[in-house]
Parts: sequence; C-alpha cells; structure tokens
Amino acid sequence: MIKLQEHIDKKKFDGAGLYYNEPMSRHTSFKIGGPADLLFVPKTIKHIEDMIKRCIEVGIPYYIMGNGSNLLVSDLGYRGVIIQICKTMSGYKIEGNRVYAQGGILLSSLSKHIYRAGLRGFEFASGIPGTLGGAVYMNAGAYGGEIKDVIVEAETLTRKGAYKTLTKEALDLGYRHSSLQIHEDIVLSATLVLEEGDKKVIKALMQDFGQRRKDKQPIELPSAGSTFKRPEGYYAGKLIMDAGLSGYHVGDARVSLKHCGFVVNEGQATCKEVLELIDHIQLEVKSKFDVDLEPEVRIIGEF
Ligand SMILES: Cc1cc2nc3c(=O)[nH]c(=O)nc-3n(C[C@H](O)[C@H](O)[C@H](O)COP(=O)(O)OP(=O)(O)OC[C@H]3O[C@@H](n4cnc5c(N)ncnc54)[C@H](O)[C@@H]3O)c2cc1C
Repeated sequence: MIKLQEHIDKKKFDGAGLYYNEPMSRHTSFKIGGPADLLFVPKTIKHIEDMIKRCIEVGIPYYIMGNGSNLLVSDLGYRGVIIQICKTMSGYKIEGNRVYAQGGILLSSLSKHIYRAGLRGFEFASGIPGTLGGAVYMNAGAYGGEIKDVIVEAETLTRKGAYKTLTKEALDLGYRHSSLQIHEDIVLSATLVLEEGDKKVIKALMQDFGQRRKDKQPIELPSAGSTFKRPEGYYAGKLIMDAGLSGYHVGDARVSLKHCGFVVNEGQATCKEVLELIDHIQLEVKSKFDVDLEPEVRIIGEF
C-alpha cells in the first residue's frame, strides 16, 4: 500500500475532501469495490490541477471518476488517487440557447435547469445517472439522443496538467466512444447548444423516458447500466436472453430477469463474481451466435 498521506499536503487542498482508504462500494452505482488509497473530491479546478501535478511528481497513479454509474472497481480496490468530479463541481450558466456547465453536474439536475429555461434536445439525458463529464467521456445516449447531438466543445485538462479546449470534432464522438478514452483528458466543463422548445412538451418527454426506464430497466437494484455495448446489428440484452442466460448468476451477481442487458448486484456481489458472470456471458453468446460482446462498463483497480 502506498503511504499517500506522506506525499500530500492537506493545506494545499482547503475545502476539498480527502478520504484515505475509502471503500469504493460507497461511490459506485454497482455498490461494489474495495478501498481506494485516496478518494479525492476537489472543489475547484486548481485542486484538480494541483493533485494531478502532485501525483505526477511522486509517481502515484490517478483515475478520474464522475458519479460512478459506469464503473466496476476491483475487490482489492485502487492503488493511487481516485479524483471524483461530481456534485462539488456542478456550476452552470444558460445564455440564450447555449448551456455551459461544469463536468461534475449530474445529468438529472442539468436536464431540469435546461427544461426550466425552455430548451429542448437534452431530454434523453434526464434519466442517465451520471455526470456531464462522464457522459462526454462515454458519449452517453438514450432514446435516440446522445451527447454528440448537443455538444459544441469541452474544456479539458490533459494528463500532464495542461488546459485544452476540445471541439466536437476533436472529441471524435461515436457510439459510446470519445477521443478522451484514448488520451484520458479530463472534462472540466462543456458547452452545449440546444433549441427553444415548449416546456410542456419537454416535460412530457422527460416523464415518458423516465417511465420507460422504470418499466423496462432494473433500476431498483444496484448496477452499472448496460453491461455490454450494443454489437452492430444486434441487441446485447436479446442475445443474452436467447442464449438462455436470463437470471443466470454467479453469487449475488445476476443477469437481470427484467432486462438481460443488465447485470445486477442482488446484495453482496463482488467484482470477481461480476467478472466471472461477464466471462460466462461472453463465452455463451460467442459459441451460440458467434458475436463478441464488449463490456461498456469500465473496469478499474488492482487485480
Ligand atoms: C441504471 C443505469 C442506467 C443507465 N442508463 C444509461 C443510458 O441510458 N445511456 C448511457 O449512455 N449510459 C447509461 N448508464 C451508464 C452511465 O450512467 C453513463 O455511462 C454515464 O455517462 C457515466 O457517467 P458517470 O459520471 O457516472 O461516470 P463514471 O461511471 O464515474 O465514469 C465513467 C467513465 O467516464 C470517465 N469520466 C468520468 N468523469 C469524467 C470527467 N470529468 N472527465 C473525463 N473522464 C471522466 C471515467 O474515467 C470512466 O472511464 C446507466 C447506468 C445506470 C446505473
């Protein structure tokens, strides 16, 4: 275990949260994950910059997370610093049809502010339980909409600690893909452009999407959303169901009976169990349909 306390000057991070040996099961929607040596919750961009600089100087690995809704963390946890950009960095500004927001704002909150401003085009994001930063990184999408449709640019901090504005083109957004996944730049904020709309229609659409989620997805149980990306020409959930794996489980990790595209944690599931289940699903789907399933969920930590 790295003795991080010796390398980090608490005074430099006034107002930020420094949680040593913090169980990540408390911070992921899967409710799975061992301790991070340090979970760092910055309040300012300077906090992020200083922490990254310190990590580089001392040679400590770091990882950026948002709301932890697409993360599977190892049972042994993470050796290094996890920097959580979430609610403490959730400022926003709406001018006309341009929306500027910090990376840590939750999509659910941002979509409410956008609705109140009478702007349409962001309804798709209202039920996705992540942050704006995580959504840009993943090019999150639902019900026919995705971040790609609304983003203009993102302000980022590179892995080496330099500030950079990335245009939509430079972000290279595709199905659950962005260039951030290659360079691992950090999203500090993003600018979106939306259209004027009718508030009643916007609200109705958000409610409709919310209801569809409740009806079709196991949102009552911990998960990381869709476990796999959609393979071209197929639906992962249908392939898994047709492979006879509905309800299949390894310990408390189970293929949801409500939606086979979700692996859910029925109580005390471990990362090891989820990974065993993922392996089994991949092997069965490959042998029955010759289709490769690629995890959408990001897997991190010590293995
Ligand atoms: C019940 C449920 C339903 C879901 N439904 C959908 C859906 O409809 N559509 C969809 O696309 N996804 C869905 N998801 C998955 C998830 O919510 C999205 O992928 C979301 O965009 C992840 O955001 P996050 O803040 O939680 O990121 P995290 O899970 O914390 O991180 C995900 C990835 O983003 C990176 N990241 C996070 N913040 C930043 C940042 N500021 N800068 C750079 N990189 C960052 C992390 O390093 C990590 O690789 C669902 C998840 C759940 C649990």
